[in-house]
Amino acid sequence: MDVKTVSELKSQLRGEVILPGDEGYEKARKVYNAMIDKQPNAIVRCTGVADVVASVKAARAEGIDIAIRGGGHSVPGFGTADHALVVDLNRMKGIRVDAKTKTVWAEGGCTWGDFNHATHAFGLATTGGIISTTGIGGLTLGGGIGYLTRGAGLSVDNLLSADVVLADGSFVTASERENQDLLWALRGGGGNFGVVTNFQYRLHEVKEVVGGPMFFEIEDAPEVMRAYDKYITDAPRELGAFFLWQTAPPLPFIPKDRHGDTFCGMVVCWVGRSERAKDVFAPLRDAARVVAEHVGPMPYPSLNSAFDGLVPPGLQHYWKTLFAKGITDGAIEAHMTFGPKVPTVNSTTHIYSINGAVHDVAPDATAFGHRDAKYAVVIAGMWPDPAHNESNIRWVRDYHKALEPHSELGGYINFASGDDLDRVAVNYGSNYDRLRKVKSKYDPSNVFHINQNIKP
Ligand SMILES: Cc1cc2nc3c(=O)[nH]c(=O)nc-3n(C[C@H](O)[C@H](O)[C@H](O)COP(=O)(O)OP(=O)(O)OC[C@H]3O[C@@H](n4cnc5c(N)ncnc54)[C@H](O)[C@@H]3O)c2cc1C
Repeated sequence: MDVKTVSELKSQLRGEVILPGDEGYEKARKVYNAMIDKQPNAIVRCTGVADVVASVKAARAEGIDIAIRGGGHSVPGFGTADHALVVDLNRMKGIRVDAKTKTVWAEGGCTWGDFNHATHAFGLATTGGIISTTGIGGLTLGGGIGYLTRGAGLSVDNLLSADVVLADGSFVTASERENQDLLWALRGGGGNFGVVTNFQYRLHEVKEVVGGPMFFEIEDAPEVMRAYDKYITDAPRELGAFFLWQTAPPLPFIPKDRHGDTFCGMVVCWVGRSERAKDVFAPLRDAARVVAEHVGPMPYPSLNSAFDGLVPPGLQHYWKTLFAKGITDGAIEAHMTFGPKVPTVNSTTHIYSINGAVHDVAPDATAFGHRDAKYAVVIAGMWPDPAHNESNIRWVRDYHKALEPHSELGGYINFASGDDLDRVAVNYGSNYDRLRKVKSKYDPSNVFHINQNIKP
C-alpha cells in the first residue's frame, strides 16, 4: 500500500495496521484453513465502527480488494486474499444482553463461544454453530445451522437487525423499520453487502441441555439413517440431531480396543425437560446396538464446545455440501460406499436436520434459499498433513458426486468450497434474482466480492 495512505489510515485508527514485513504479519495473515496461503497488503485489526469505516475508505482509495474476517473459519478462506486489505473484526467482541426483551447485540468479531458465554449467564441462547470457535459473522450471514435449529430456526431467523458499513464507507442499520431490503438480504446472502459491525438477535430460554454423541457399528448405519429420517420428521422441536461418520478418538467413553475404529453415530441435543430426554432419544438409540455414548446433562456452552478438540486451527480443509429432502435408499448406498472410508479422525460427514421451525418461515421471507430441504449435508474433509491433500480431496469429491443424484440442486453456502463458485446461483436458490437487485442497490461496484459472490 502507498506509504501516505497507510500513514493516513493509521492516524484514523484505534486498532493496528499490520503490513508485510511487520512482526506478527505471518501470524496475522493465517486463517483457520491451513491450505489458504494468501499475502494481503494490509491486515487492519479494527476496534470499532470508526476503524471499519476508515479501512473501507482506505482500501477504496488505494483500489485494492477488501476481505472481511470475523471468526476466520471460511473453508475457501474468504477472510483473506492476495494484495487485499483485510478488515479483521477479531478485536470487536462487545456483547450486551437485554434479558427483559430476550435480545442481544453482539459485535462482528464474536465467536459462538464468546456469544454463548455471555447469554448463558441469563439462561438464554440462540441458534449458532456446533463448534465454539466459529465466528458469529460468517455463520449467521450464510444462514446458521446448529443444535437449536429445529426449535429456534436458523441463526438468520433470529437476526433482528444489523449495523452495517457499506461499500462507500457510510453506516446504516438494517431492521424491520429501516433498510428492510438489506436486512432481508443479510439473512442468508453472506458477506456481499457490507461489513456488519453489530448483530442483534432474538434469544430463547436455553440453559441446561441433555446431549452428546452415540456411536453405532458401520454395518448398522442404514438402520440408523432410516430411523433418523423417519423420527425427525415429527420429533419434538426441542430435539436437535445430526447423523455423522466418526473415527473414534482415544476418549474414555469409547472402549480402548475400539480407538481408531470408524463408527456411524448420532449427536443429539435436547432442550426440553430433562426427565423426558431418555424417551425422546429412544427411537434413535433403539435403531441399533449402541457401542459407545457420551450423552448427558450439561450447560449449553459445554455441548457447543464439546467437539472443538477435533477441529483445531491449522488443519487442511476441503468441504462440499448438498441439501436433501429425505434420506433415500440411493443416498444410503452412497453414504455406505464412502462414509466408512472417512480418511482421518478430523474428517466427517454430517447430515443436519433443518425442518421444524425452519419450515415455518416462508421461502421468500429471508434470503436463505432452501427452506424446502429437510437436511443440509456437509462432507467435511479435515486433515493435518498437506502431503495427504490429494487423497482427502478425492474422498470429498467422490462422495459428493455419488450423493448428487439423491439430493437437491445446490448446497449450503457456508459449507461450500472455493471451487464451488460456479454454483453460487443454485446455492442461493430461489432468492438469487432478488439478492442481485439488493446487491446492485447497496454494492453496485461489487466491492465486497471475496465471498460466495452475488454479481450486481
Ligand atoms: C470447524 C467449523 C465448524 C463449522 N460449523 C458450522 C455449523 O455448525 N453451522 C453452520 O451453519 N456453519 C458451520 N461452519 C461453516 C461456517 O458457517 C462458515 O465457515 C462461516 O463462513 C464462518 O464464519 P466466520 O466468521 O468464522 O468466517 P470468516 O472466514 O471470518 O468469514 C467468512 C466470510 O463471511 C463474511 N463475513 C464474516 N463476518 C462478517 C461480517 N461481520 N460482516 C460481513 N461479512 C462477514 C465475509 O464474506 C467473510 O469473508 C463451520 C465451519 C468450520 C470451519
